[in-house]
Amino acid sequence: MIKKIMKLVVGTLYKSKNTTGSQKETQVPSKKLYKKYYTYESIEDIPDNVKPNIIYHVGENNFKWLVVLKCPCGCGDTLQLNLLKDTSPSWRVKFHTDGDVSIYPSVNRIINCRSHFNITKNSVRWWEVWIR
Ligand SMILES: [Zn+2]
Repeated sequence: MIKKIMKLVVGTLYKSKNTTGSQKETQVPSKKLYKKYYTYESIEDIPDNVKPNIIYHVGENNFKWLVVLKCPCGCGDTLQLNLLKDTSPSWRVKFHTDGDVSIYPSVNRIINCRSHFNITKNSVRWWEVWIR
């Protein structure tokens, strides 16, 4: 299911960017992991003032339904990631034993800055575009 969503989102980006026709673009996750970009915060309601470098996990303790965070590219946009499985696209938050969080699948923006990244253990892993 998650793989499907990822494919769908990547497909959208591929389509919209590949207007020249001759070149093929593929995206692969970068090997670089940018250390501890975010800290995790559990919060009941959507924050009025979204600070950069914080992953807001929104909802009651036993019912989290949204992740709110600033785009890590620095564009200033606030991103809202739906966690409700019934609504597409949806993401999920994984807690690691050391307290870090990861978010699946990747975030692939098809508007504005078009950033594509994973949140892995509170860090950002950018996707790189390869043109063949
Ligand atoms: Zn951005």
